[in-house]
Amino acid sequence: MPDPHPTTTDTDAPFPDIADSLRTKLSCEVIGPGDADWERSRLAWNTHVDQRPAAIVTPDGADDIRATVALAREHTLTVAVQPNGHGATTALSGTILIRPVRLRDITVDTERRRVRVQAGAKWKELQEALDGTGLMGLPGSTADNSVVGYHLGGGLSWFGRAHGPAANYVRSLEVVTPEGESREVTAENDPDLFWALCGGGGDFGVVVSLEIELLDESPVYGGRLMWPAECAEEVLRAYVATTRAAPVRLSAWLWFVTYPPIDAIPAELQGRSFAVVDSTFLGTAEEAERYLRHLRAVPGLETDTLGPVAVSRIDEVAGEPTDPMPAIDWARLVTDIDEEFVKRLLELNAPGGGSPVVAQLRHIGGALAQPGATAASGLAGEYLLTTMGIPVTETDAEAIHHHLDRLETALADNLIGHSHPNMLGHDSRARLAHSPANLERLRRIKRERDPAGVIRGNRPVLGSSE
Ligand SMILES: Cc1cc2nc3c(=O)[nH]c(=O)nc-3n(C[C@H](O)[C@H](O)[C@H](O)COP(=O)(O)OP(=O)(O)OC[C@H]3O[C@@H](n4cnc5c(N)ncnc54)[C@H](O)[C@@H]3O)c2cc1C
Repeated sequence: MPDPHPTTTDTDAPFPDIADSLRTKLSCEVIGPGDADWERSRLAWNTHVDQRPAAIVTPDGADDIRATVALAREHTLTVAVQPNGHGATTALSGTILIRPVRLRDITVDTERRRVRVQAGAKWKELQEALDGTGLMGLPGSTADNSVVGYHLGGGLSWFGRAHGPAANYVRSLEVVTPEGESREVTAENDPDLFWALCGGGGDFGVVVSLEIELLDESPVYGGRLMWPAECAEEVLRAYVATTRAAPVRLSAWLWFVTYPPIDAIPAELQGRSFAVVDSTFLGTAEEAERYLRHLRAVPGLETDTLGPVAVSRIDEVAGEPTDPMPAIDWARLVTDIDEEFVKRLLELNAPGGGSPVVAQLRHIGGALAQPGATAASGLAGEYLLTTMGIPVTETDAEAIHHHLDRLETALADNLIGHSHPNMLGHDSRARLAHSPANLERLRRIKRERDPAGVIRGNRPVLGSSE
């Protein structure tokens, strides 16, 4: 069966000499298809995405970014930004790809409770910079992604149910516009563009840095509970009961997982399947345990890491992979979990049942659903269902896509037609990343602000894959 959402392209990069043109204008590193390490350099974190940019620029500062955008305009090319590649899609093929990995400054202002973060800095670096200040941002499950990319895609945090999308704490963005000019964008000086940048993705300008308002650091109780596969149904039912009664300070995510037999996985877990609940609670252990009582009542618990967690180490709760790997992801928002959903999810994706994907349910809602001044506000649904398969061969990829089609059909009654912009993985279709109303507004803003289409995000709001 052909791959219905192909992630590879045979298209040769247009303007093969664009790297040479860039080198005449820029003093920073530029590499192109003719260079020795091109095949390695052109790939992203998700190595399943066979992205083929026209050239890659590693800017030393905003000057290099302005010059790159100006040259792209001159050659009617497009510019894309990819600090890290967790969100790689083939929409970036043919672009001049800016990799801002040398722009990593983080400036904390404890008095103003603000931090200015440059485009290449990762969450791990921000966590370290904030450690000991008594202040925190709103981190997601991994600390290996760029802070800027995460906020542009909305930022779905462990603490989002209590505090809302991370993008709602962006106060100002230093942007190189599609005209190649630098400007500072705020909610006050340009509400439309600010709304689009904070949650609408990377389609509206090159963000050199952004300023985030910080929150008081809270004590966090969190960790992992893990049962063998045969407990999956009981765990799922207890998870639903827990989340239905959960205060917004509790975030609980359920995984159905089979660990692959690879060296990166501890030997005792390799090849085994589990039902897992990761959770974080903004408050004391005593309170948290009261809310987790349904899960505590499920027998057979094999692993329990719950305890106090420093916000600077919150990424250890989910222990996401950090090394580049091939991944086929799929995600949809879920209205609610009813009996039919429980039955069908267990039929198709119970751990140990032969499914080629890991499935995760994230409890959302709370402050994430509130309206606000950014495109990240007003997230629909009570849960987010995400899946991830690791395709080693083309046959694996076909099996994963076939399985995902079955899953989507089986769960259709409970699925909302789109996902969260950051959680859609390698799928470049903007209509699956945003609500219809948000997408309409994003398209209007794109037509007004970038009529020539100089900037391209990983899920372009206008264009062939929209
Ligand atoms: C294991 C794993 C766990 C994750 N967990 C979470 C989570 O809990 N919550 C969450 O919200 N997300 C999560 N993500 C998604 C991740 O946050 C997004 O992919 C996000 O885009 C940032 O990752 P990145 O820096 O690798 O992005 P990249 O793939 O490097 O960039 C993604 C896109 O963002 C845009 N972009 C990035 N930087 C700029 C810039 N400076 N200027 C203009 N556009 C820019 C571009 O369009 C780019 O294509 C997870 C991803 C993985 C792989």
